[in-house]
Amino acid sequence: MSIDIRLPPPEPGPGEALIKEYSDPSPMTPVQPVQLGPDDTFQFRCHKGIACFNKCCQNIDIMLAPYDILRLKNRLGISSRDFLDNFTRDFAMDGHGMPGLKLATRDESPACVFLRPEGCGVYEDRPSACRYYALGLLSMRKKDSPTDEDSYFVVKEDHCLGHQEAKTQTVGEYRKEQGLEDYDAINREWRQIVLKKRSSGPTVGKPSERSMELFFHASYDLDGFRDFISTPGFTELFELDPAEKQALLANDESLLRFAFRFLKQALYGEMSIPVRADAAEMRRERYRRRVEQMERDAVERKSMDQDAQYESLKHESQDD
Ligand code: SF4
Ligand code: SF4
Repeated sequence: MSIDIRLPPPEPGPGEALIKEYSDPSPMTPVQPVQLGPDDTFQFRCHKGIACFNKCCQNIDIMLAPYDILRLKNRLGISSRDFLDNFTRDFAMDGHGMPGLKLATRDESPACVFLRPEGCGVYEDRPSACRYYALGLLSMRKKDSPTDEDSYFVVKEDHCLGHQEAKTQTVGEYRKEQGLEDYDAINREWRQIVLKKRSSGPTVGKPSERSMELFFHASYDLDGFRDFISTPGFTELFELDPAEKQALLANDESLLRFAFRFLKQALYGEMSIPVRADAAEMRRERYRRRVEQMERDAVERKSMDQDAQYESLKHESQDD
């Protein structure tokens, strides 16, 4: 299974081959050259009794989106950090090193870490790319268009016998059956952030390391982001109603949507989280207090050093 949510870059970069793959499929590519909309039909059925059962999960290349990670880490009952450390691997989504994550494979093979002999070990919470297969989703923003558009492609890999099954459905019906509407509703907002970041391209230049870190944490490390919005620094800067903040801290999905708002504000200046008017003054005050404390600590350390020197001189003179 090698189809994920592809986000073609507008400028030349490592992902360029992917656009080519979709727009000009060669006999080697499993992507069918017909672009489908929600009402178009395709023939496919996957079920436990099929001879190729589990084949698609034995050789994977699956990109993860933020809502995939939220669902999986909650299913496993671990923190987002633990999930990232144990079940993902990093990759660059574009030539600027925009951080992406792929689902980990087993140490000794390209098989998915969650594959079990009886099927997917996380089926109810499997990532959106797994749900889409054997469809591929392409999100694209046309030049000068403010919004992105989704289109779909059938992916026919030799090992997959589901295409020979006598079931025809529309793309919309398939998405509903696979529970993709919830996934897409949340991940779409994130894809828009990614597309916008990419479409800024060479006109803006290489994004700063700090903005890439911010993107990584707000996108993938939801528990870390929760800690971040609980810090005094965040409270000093942003004017969040305490009840709203409590609701965010208690609900992962709301928190993830808030993380997207935060990213849009931090990366593109799309202001939706009120900034305190006195934030700059409060930060200066905090900085001033920190500097004062550091000066006090330095004076204390110096006086302790002097005491220690005096004590050692005293002992030396007594020994003489
Ligand atoms: S998460 Fe499940 S469906 Fe997806 S590749 Fe792994 S085993 Fe297969
Ligand atoms: S029919 Fe295709 S998707 Fe289903 S198990 Fe077989 S290879 Fe995987």
